[in-house]
Amino acid sequence: MKIKQRLYQFKAEGRAILAANFYNFETLSGILQAAHELNEPVMLQLSESSIRYLGLHVATSLARAGLEQYEVEGWLHLDHGSSPEMAEACLKAGFDSVMIDGSEKPFGENIRITRKVVQMAALYGANVEAELGFIPKLGQESDNDGFTSPQQAFDFISATGIDALAVAIGTAHGFYKEEPKLDLERLSSIAAITSIPLVLHGGSGIPDKMLREAIKRGITKVNLATDSKNAFMKELKNVLYNTDEIDLRKTFPRATDAVKNLIINKMQLVSMTQLEF
Ligand SMILES: [Zn+2]
Repeated sequence: MKIKQRLYQFKAEGRAILAANFYNFETLSGILQAAHELNEPVMLQLSESSIRYLGLHVATSLARAGLEQYEVEGWLHLDHGSSPEMAEACLKAGFDSVMIDGSEKPFGENIRITRKVVQMAALYGANVEAELGFIPKLGQESDNDGFTSPQQAFDFISATGIDALAVAIGTAHGFYKEEPKLDLERLSSIAAITSIPLVLHGGSGIPDKMLREAIKRGITKVNLATDSKNAFMKELKNVLYNTDEIDLRKTFPRATDAVKNLIINKMQLVSMTQLEF
């Protein structure tokens, strides 16, 4: 099934798809083992820095082969694409979905580049996600003034024809210094003006109940990156500290398992229907 259809199906069922970033074979494997075990679909995300690290061809092939090997329904998505050129390169490489992030550009410019990507993606039948408002990136301070305005969201969606919108309602990328407070009223107002799926970035470290409430109010895709990196590296450090083993095939699997366990928990939480929660 195409990701667009799956997102609408999940939206109708009151649940969300987990969109997990991967960085190497081990993190990809942890994500896919979890999805296989739960028999749930998953979006595999690559940031531009991960694409630079792996190489576009290797990254794409690794994800495709992984989905096949683990018998998981999944889609490849560009996370925070910074330009139409980058989005195009990923579409050409066979991505199912791309994000164009013009959120830090002036409103008119964000519309212009997003429209361009929507037109391009139409040729590939691919899904387009864009961002409106300010979701702090790593190292940036949070700022309430940057929250997504429902009226502007309406204008933005009408002007661009995007398939999914990332909203700024109080989440941030990276670790939270204190418990995040989501502006759930604002989320409901945005959900009321559009039927397209809404996306929550910065899904790491949001308390379970709050995350479920956000899904209840219209979030259909939950992004998870920091938690996976953290789970992997913490366990790897732990293993390395206690052994002189040089066979990496014996060392990495425990870190992979840490990612798998994390993904199982998050996936169970976001993919439950409202009745099951
Ligand atoms: Zn993000």
